Amino acid sequence: MDIFGENVFNDAVMRKRLPKAAYKSLRKTIEGGLPLDPSVAEIVANAMKDWAIEKGATHFTHWFQPLTGITAEKHDSFISPTMHGLVGMEFSGKELIQGEPDASSFPNGGIRATFEARGYTSWDCTSPAFLKEDAGVLTLCIPTAFCSYTGEALDKKTPLLRSMQALNKQALRILRLFGNTTTTQVTSTVGAEQEYFLIDKKFYDKRLDLMLSGRTLFGAMPPKGQEMDDHYFGSLKARVAAFMHDLNIELWKLGVLAKTQHNEVAPGQFELAPIFGTTNIATDHNQLVMDSMKKVALRHDMVCLLHEKPFAGVNGSGKHNNWSMSTDDGLNLLDPGHNPHENFQFLTILCAIIKAVDDYAELLRVSAAMPGNDHRLGANEAPPAIISIFLGDQLTDILEQLQNGDITHSLQGEKMASGVETLPAFHKDSTDRNRTSPFAFTGNKFEFRMVASSQSISGPNVVLNTIFAEVFSQFADHLEQAEDFDQALLELLKKTVANHKRILFDGNGYSREWVEEAARRGLPNISSTVDSALVLLRESTVELYKKHGVLNRTELESRYEINLERYCKQINIEALTMIDMAKHLIIPAGVKYSTQLANSINAIKSASSAVDISVQENLLIDLCSTLASFRSNLEALEKDIQGANSIPDDAYTIGVYYRDVVFQAMKALRTDGDKLETMIDAELWPLPTYAQMLYML
Ligand code: ADP
Ligand code: MG
Repeated sequence: MDIFGENVFNDAVMRKRLPKAAYKSLRKTIEGGLPLDPSVAEIVANAMKDWAIEKGATHFTHWFQPLTGITAEKHDSFISPTMHGLVGMEFSGKELIQGEPDASSFPNGGIRATFEARGYTSWDCTSPAFLKEDAGVLTLCIPTAFCSYTGEALDKKTPLLRSMQALNKQALRILRLFGNTTTTQVTSTVGAEQEYFLIDKKFYDKRLDLMLSGRTLFGAMPPKGQEMDDHYFGSLKARVAAFMHDLNIELWKLGVLAKTQHNEVAPGQFELAPIFGTTNIATDHNQLVMDSMKKVALRHDMVCLLHEKPFAGVNGSGKHNNWSMSTDDGLNLLDPGHNPHENFQFLTILCAIIKAVDDYAELLRVSAAMPGNDHRLGANEAPPAIISIFLGDQLTDILEQLQNGDITHSLQGEKMASGVETLPAFHKDSTDRNRTSPFAFTGNKFEFRMVASSQSISGPNVVLNTIFAEVFSQFADHLEQAEDFDQALLELLKKTVANHKRILFDGNGYSREWVEEAARRGLPNISSTVDSALVLLRESTVELYKKHGVLNRTELESRYEINLERYCKQINIEALTMIDMAKHLIIPAGVKYSTQLANSINAIKSASSAVDISVQENLLIDLCSTLASFRSNLEALEKDIQGANSIPDDAYTIGVYYRDVVFQAMKALRTDGDKLETMIDAELWPLPTYAQMLYML
């Protein structure tokens, strides 16, 4: 494993290449959050440049995460003119710590007008710099935060770092209450399991819809979908195995701890899970994972689809965001230990999490809102749009004991007997799993399962860190004042469970009954991205983010605008793509086939009047009437898109229009389009079919 981290300016490289004092000072910034000394930046920049040049790099870029949800880079070379027309290779401390990309060209939700261009990137030394390889060319990438000239965060990193600070501050208060005097830092940790599809590039190249919108906008269901359950964990096809091997190597070079890989539920669907890290680095690494997947797939003549729902009728993709907190002295704060009923620090943190998820369920929902995710949430393949928590038998039992006033024991996993003597006996876990729950306790972490496959995991983790920081601060405010700590704690926990147990649900989250039961419990069920956006403008949201210094009102308003704008733009692109495909591919195929049928009918008729031509005639009648209906649905969709221009200029109203009018018209058009696919001669059908895309890898 010599290659692991070979393209990362990591701790080992820094320790080797930096003078001791500079190294120590930088570590203090990375670990202790102390401000960076400018003279140290100068030294680090020089060492970084020498390292990068030795590896073959000629350029560097500030690598940042604008509100597009993907990453951005602007490359500069190290060259700098010296005397006599020569050049040297330079990289100053200032170039390391600060860059100046154009802020108005990235989504900013009205913060920056086109003429107000200035924006800054600034070095995030808590995430290591790395060398990114594109077609053999290496570029030094410096992870940075991105803000506007006026100081607002225009990116995904800044609020994440702020939320990690807030969590650290409040979680430490909780630890101190339990007598911990040694821990100096609490960091949230994340492991993001990434789902994706692979398809053969030759099919992708013939699908305008995949190219422009990321998902298929037409496509009849193949005779076989995922009903046989034969893809999940199935043996890997050679081509996919070769892709995964290459991908792992790319990721290991970048220091990404890619660990687990397997076939997913849908045909052509796969998953990759890395070993967890600090939230900040895990977020950067997830971007590298998505980026590398796309690049490596191309090398294997495949295309990686990260869209949440590339194919109707089979499962779509999500991201499971495993979340916990670690202390700098090595404790996982969500590890219940062998006897959780005696671990009051754990129970306090658990109750705070329960309260936070209940109080801020809608913020969690909005954090996973993406146009593509609207196809999944609540569609029996992903958690419903209703937030609930799965705790499992052991913790549920302890919370019941707590409510009854006497906590005496923890249920333990029993010995597992397979009935086969040669199989090793083992203890099963104290708790089963529940894969339908959006927020599930999985032994020593929570798994937030609503996250969309293509989105940055920053947003969901900003919400998790902030809402937990908030309830930790409420608990700490109360308990720090308590005269009798034990008594006050017990009462607080009891009260919390009583007030928030409605959010606990261990049953089948995909069932109809749960939707009804959740409504009875008063749990919010926000089914669309458009409605979820409103949560960002609520006064309680503004207050929460302001209190913890994570986002101010302007920053929240900009995210509201961007969420809605992105939704409308996405639907608009999809609708226009459908129209293009309908006019240039599907209708011409229908016309060709109907002409062939008509010619055949005429030819046969003139050859003999005794032949039964009812098949051709009936087909022609059906085909032409479906074609006519398709055409009128097409006209309706065109009219509806035009109609968007006369909607009042208000992001929410326009969003509702796209959802309720344009998107519905797209569905009607698709129904006829898919019907035509089942009627028209395969030789004439102009698009690769679902069967080809899903099975021919
Ligand atoms: P599971 O079987 O529950 O999916 P895994 O061990 O495969 O469990 O873990 C899934 C993901 O959770 C991995 O990315 C893993 O690194 C991550 N994970 C494990 N422990 C933690 C933790 N303490 N904090 C955050 N993520 C974690
Ligand atoms: Mg998992």
